[in-house]
Amino acid sequence: MKYRIFKENKLVIASHNQGKIREIRELLQPLNIEILSAYDLKIEEPEENGCTFEENALIKSAFVSKATKLPCLSDDSGICFSDLNNEPGIHSARWAGENKDFDLAMSKINKAIKKINNPNYNCHFVCSLSLCWPDNYDVTVSGRIDGKFSWPPRGNKGFGYDPIFRPLDHKLTFAEMAPNFKHNISHRSIAFNKLIRLSFPTLSP
Ligand code: IMP
Repeated sequence: MKYRIFKENKLVIASHNQGKIREIRELLQPLNIEILSAYDLKIEEPEENGCTFEENALIKSAFVSKATKLPCLSDDSGICFSDLNNEPGIHSARWAGENKDFDLAMSKINKAIKKINNPNYNCHFVCSLSLCWPDNYDVTVSGRIDGKFSWPPRGNKGFGYDPIFRPLDHKLTFAEMAPNFKHNISHRSIAFNKLIRLSFPTLSP
């Protein structure tokens, strides 16, 4: 199957989440194009009523692309705990409440896992990236990284649930890793590399 190649010189990141915007900007830096965000452009957020990360990513990229008439890249991501039937999953942002209090969300996860008999502490992050053009053509891909729940939270880098996620075969949590190290292994970078291969082949190693 042939995917559309990105040839424009402007791209909008369809997000209001400053942590994600920063990481996506860093990942897109080699493209040397103008990068805007839905936050900068004051574009409201659509209702995320999909059932999967990929559906929600596409809802966001299509909505912002229609509003801006520019190609848009969205990220829908979250963390899934096997002991909690893969919750919070697509509801990862909602677990932090309206105040986006991730200390509270991480405590809720710790309390829920403590109630489980013989927990396995397995968890994974998923990131779906959707690149959508104003004519509604999209390229949507996903990446996943597996790890273990780590308590108490450790580290002050990164964002969201990073302090309680320790990738398999690593001693540090995501929040203890240097940002470039996280970028090399994360769910977001796995999805990113897929997108680069399909739609930005000139950047592909
Ligand atoms: P949404 O994709 O906007 O629905 O939000 C997903 C939520 O998952 C974010 O608010 C973060 O809290 C969390 N999340 C996604 N990716 C990461 C990550 O790389 N590190 C930590 N938390 C993340």
